[in-house]
Amino acid sequence: MSDLQFDVVVVGGGHAAGRLLAELIRGGFEGSVRVIGDEPDAFYERPPLSKSLLAGKCDLDSIAIVRGADLTARMQICSAGIVAVDRIARRVTLGDGTTVGYGKLVLATGASPRRLGLLGESAANVHRLRNTGDVARIRAGMGEHQRWVIVGGGYIGLEVAATLRQASLDVTLVERAPRLLGRAASAAVASHLAALHEVNGVTLRVGVEPKNFCSERDFATGLKLADGEIIPGTQFLVGAGALPNDALARAADIDCDDGILVEPNGATSDPSIFAIGDATRHRFHPATGGAMRFECWQNAEQQASALAAHLLGRAIIVDLLPWFWTEQYDQRVDTFGLVPADATQVRREGPTARDWTQFHLVDGRIVAAEIVNHPSERRQIRKLVVAGARLDPALLGDSNTDLRALAA
Ligand code: NAP
Repeated sequence: MSDLQFDVVVVGGGHAAGRLLAELIRGGFEGSVRVIGDEPDAFYERPPLSKSLLAGKCDLDSIAIVRGADLTARMQICSAGIVAVDRIARRVTLGDGTTVGYGKLVLATGASPRRLGLLGESAANVHRLRNTGDVARIRAGMGEHQRWVIVGGGYIGLEVAATLRQASLDVTLVERAPRLLGRAASAAVASHLAALHEVNGVTLRVGVEPKNFCSERDFATGLKLADGEIIPGTQFLVGAGALPNDALARAADIDCDDGILVEPNGATSDPSIFAIGDATRHRFHPATGGAMRFECWQNAEQQASALAAHLLGRAIIVDLLPWFWTEQYDQRVDTFGLVPADATQVRREGPTARDWTQFHLVDGRIVAAEIVNHPSERRQIRKLVVAGARLDPALLGDSNTDLRALAA
């Protein structure tokens, strides 16, 4: 017998868990729901963490997904988290020893920043960025005359570099690959962002391999590269990807493969257990034609909404076109679809010199588009990607062509 019993128990207090709870409340879910998280701050949107929250331009309340009585009535914080799932008895055991029984269990356990495994990486001034506690620690290191060294030229590294430069701090960014955003963006967009950072005063070091952090006591003083060079710094950030928190699911013998394997409605290999958000991997995603892990805001939203609809007994509408965006300095890039390595690329200029779009075509069909600023055509471009439109590249690249007519 469990200490407590709920119809739905959600493990995790991140974006996906918050959206699920918000949708269940909005949909009038009649069953009992308990969300068990291990973070004191819960249910906030993560995109502002590297931008407006880090810059001190917004507060936690403004990025919360669920607030007030809706939250406190259903939320339980246990800093030791959930330590076990008993699928036979249908209950979870918390780190404090109490047990909670469930009708349906939702694993929304998120992801954790990848550690590089380098000597000195645990020093107090080597930061990661995943939650509001990390933001507070980084902000404490944003005083005057601090010299920041960032490892990783992905979205975290670039967005934090922009925020630090906007606070007039000295920033060097190190990327081991020959260019930035090797997996997430085309070479054209990556070189545009590289130039943007250089114009704004970031020192970019691409194609260099970090070897270890030099440190004195618990304080890093530099990043040593494989060739022996030391880049000195007073504060460091590692943005080297994230790994799914699927250990609880694996221990419970739920199907996992670098992420909890899920169907579009969040169903796992156990009919009573669902999973959503960064901890998951889609068993099949149309964007790749196979399994896919997709850590981003849109995926958390979509999976949570689909599961809420399922629990409410409603039809599920899932928009599976991948979409993510980044904002750096005064610029924005929206990516629709997954950018393939070997596509035909077509550039289309926008109404001003700062607006342009890089289209990616495979077998004559548009499979992805990276929209640099260009707000006036964003909707039409998205429609073309959704439709997988087959268009003459010359027409597409001609900024005099009316995209509204093509997208109709
Ligand atoms: P990311 O976008 O996957 O980028 C990781 C970067 O670190 C890559 O450039 C990668 O280079 C490099 N790296 C990986 N292992 C390394 C190693 N051992 N040594 C040196 N460099 C290494 O991940 P992230 O920037 O850390 O972001 C974490 C998660 O948050 C991601 O899922 C990201 O999509 C998400 N996020 C999204 C946004 C957005 O959508 N705007 C913003 C922030 C964060 P290689 O390619 O060579 O491995």
